Amino acid sequence: MRQEVAQVTANTEPVPQVHLIWLEAPQIAPQAQPGQFVMARCGKDAECQLRRPLSIHQREGNKIALLFSVVGKGTQWLSQRQSGDKLDLLGPLGNGFTIHPGSQNLLLVAGGIGIAPIHFLADEAVKRGLSVTMLYGTPTTTQLYPSKLLPKVRLVTATEDGTEGTKGMITDLLPDFTEGADQVFACGPASMYQTMAAQKFPIAKPIQISLEVRMGCGLGVCYGCTVKTKKGLRQVCKDGPIFDLDNILWDELNYL
Ligand SMILES: Cc1cc2nc3c(=O)[nH]c(=O)nc-3n(C[C@H](O)[C@H](O)[C@H](O)COP(=O)(O)OP(=O)(O)OC[C@H]3O[C@@H](n4cnc5c(N)ncnc54)[C@H](O)[C@@H]3O)c2cc1C
Repeated sequence: MRQEVAQVTANTEPVPQVHLIWLEAPQIAPQAQPGQFVMARCGKDAECQLRRPLSIHQREGNKIALLFSVVGKGTQWLSQRQSGDKLDLLGPLGNGFTIHPGSQNLLLVAGGIGIAPIHFLADEAVKRGLSVTMLYGTPTTTQLYPSKLLPKVRLVTATEDGTEGTKGMITDLLPDFTEGADQVFACGPASMYQTMAAQKFPIAKPIQISLEVRMGCGLGVCYGCTVKTKKGLRQVCKDGPIFDLDNILWDELNYL
């Protein structure tokens, strides 16, 4: 883990209220693994004293990209950064996704902004020559992050209003795609995980999910992100953010 003052090289808004920021981060980028995150200092206001956790969305050489929804003061500040601006980061943090040796067919599930870490995982899996199917759902077509970025991935979309792909929730499609998948990985809202946890899938290996809860320090010091699991209390920042779906006690999760 490094602290690094990274330089913004680009900031675009590929989807309304969703920003894609590229950063020159030569200390963090080479170590970054899919599923890991950075803690970004978002300005000097009192409300932003705590860094904000953001998944590593892409990596190219010494650069990393963050893809984030503008939801509050910190992400608003971040969305206004321009090329040449500096950003104070800690990272890479957390455990990251694990692709087991022998896994050939991966099923990836992204709900909304959950596409952020799933994209990095898909990219890495394709580079390793694995076969990747991605189920990606959003409320409506204008919120779908451009899918042409991953040409070798088999992409299946769903929108809640039916404006693109299948009408409904992305979890509705899951039972049709789990057969033949060696591993399943997911990132999305708690409601998506709760639906998945209630379903039974014919998959030998545990489903890995990225858990997003409110986080204080990101370093395992403050215990602010502690969650209850079947194996006891766990810190999302240090023990996660990737957990086995079935290990989380969903009914006891204080989700934001
Ligand atoms: C490991 C991890 C990785 C994450 N990766 C991404 C990512 O790649 N892209 C992305 O858009 N978001 C991601 N998040 C969520 C992101 O950290 C929050 O949206 C952000 O901290 C909000 O900061 P803010 O100051 O803009 O909003 P605040 O003013 O702090 O809060 C505004 C609203 O945002 C929501 N929020 C606040 N903190 C979180 C949180 N930790 N997780 C989810 N929702 C939150 C709450 O509903 C709150 O009402 C991640 C969270 C974690 C824990």
